[in-house]
Amino acid sequence: MKIKSRTLIAGSIIALIALTTMQGYLTFNTFDLRKNSFAVNSRTKIGSIVKTPYVDSLSWHYRMDFVKKIPEYRNGEITKEELILELENAAKSRNPTFKKYFKEGAEHFKLDPRVLFKKVASSLELTHEDGTTEQIIIESDKSPTFLLGTDFPTDEGYLINAWNWTFDEDFINNNNQTENVIITYRASLYMKIIDLDWIIFNQLIGLFLIAFLLFVFVVLLVSYSIRNLLKLKHISDVKTDFINNITHELKTPLATLSIATKTLSSKFAQDNKEIAKVSIDTINRQNVRLQNLIDQVVDNSLGYNDIKLNLEQVNLTDFTNEICDDFSLTLTNDIQFLRSIENTQTLAHIDPFYISTAIINILNNAIKFDGTVIKLTYKITDLYHVVTISDNGIGISKKNKSLIFGKFYRINEQNKHSYKGLGLGLYYCNQIIKAHHGTISVKSEEHEGSTFCIKIPLNHGKENFTS
Ligand code: ADP
Repeated sequence: MKIKSRTLIAGSIIALIALTTMQGYLTFNTFDLRKNSFAVNSRTKIGSIVKTPYVDSLSWHYRMDFVKKIPEYRNGEITKEELILELENAAKSRNPTFKKYFKEGAEHFKLDPRVLFKKVASSLELTHEDGTTEQIIIESDKSPTFLLGTDFPTDEGYLINAWNWTFDEDFINNNNQTENVIITYRASLYMKIIDLDWIIFNQLIGLFLIAFLLFVFVVLLVSYSIRNLLKLKHISDVKTDFINNITHELKTPLATLSIATKTLSSKFAQDNKEIAKVSIDTINRQNVRLQNLIDQVVDNSLGYNDIKLNLEQVNLTDFTNEICDDFSLTLTNDIQFLRSIENTQTLAHIDPFYISTAIINILNNAIKFDGTVIKLTYKITDLYHVVTISDNGIGISKKNKSLIFGKFYRINEQNKHSYKGLGLGLYYCNQIIKAHHGTISVKSEEHEGSTFCIKIPLNHGKENFTS
């Protein structure tokens, strides 16, 4: 059972971890796929927007403006930098119109406004009549010449398209001769998506929520099952312990009974009245012992709802003194019993039979678990009658303190063998005190001793005695 339940628990935890890892992986993958698909979609939409004739015509116009400036450059009227500036300015002057068209296109194609676009000239080359070429804009330049759109840093965006455009232009040079130049120009389109992760997260929030709830549900289910399993295991252990203990308790009286009946039925006893009487007395004693054992199991197993109290007005000063007197009579000389009992006239409304049973149970335990100095105190506080019983016995470990009031609970193997019992005493005490609407608690240190504290409300049962 032990190995089986451990394997089951370990198996469930491993399965849970594997399931969570897989779910995490799948969710992460979905997130990534969605990001890619969003980027591809946006790119297609941008493609559709920039291909519309009115957007395309803008590009044509600034290119023409630029081409017109080439003769001035060739004739030495403007520098290379000024030529590039001409291209930039020609595009720049059309940018507001471009942005307006782009916005309309974006609305039409349902492109997310957080997707930015820009067009740059990444290279520009002039090829002259004599076959020589001249690089105006060099391809490898880190910051290509911005033309249209939103001017974000190039390394923050994705390159989504690029194409070459060649134009053949004749012009009159300084020597009044017609000269030809071929302009090769490379335009690149970039896209930048602001907060892409956030956009996708918002799209998938429903999925994440379901995944999270499912995870919480599975964790709760597994922990609930493990708790149940441990509970069942505990009940099964307790049952086994109880059967072992009760069998052990029954063995002695049954063996004695068997010997006594054998003796009684032997010829020797039939002829000897003295022997017969001893045997009959033994049978009676063992019979009472067995009866007590059975009564103990039946009575001590009662829950507090089943305990029918016969309430009386009791002066606990006298009552606890009487219990202490009776208890002292049972003690051997090696045990020191102390009492500190408050002298009060305040009456408690209790069932004296049950309360004395509870106190005697705790006193007997104090001796059973190796107490040599035992002390009972009684006092009244603002709200309670308080009885405490302390001993210097073996004590109770931290982990067991909350468990000892459970039905059939006994502490660890070593204790079980050294100290007889059924694990019902404290359970019964707790039920008795609960029936009086009070509480029982324990303070203890292992190897140092224990202090049990019973509190019964001052006003418990009062209403039954006021006329
Ligand atoms: P039992 O005495 O029959 O075992 P109880 O219900 O009276 O059952 O006590 C439950 C367990 O609590 C005991 O088995 C023992 O381990 C622990 N216990 C109770 N009283 C004391 C005490 N005074 N000192 C140390 N351990 C105690």
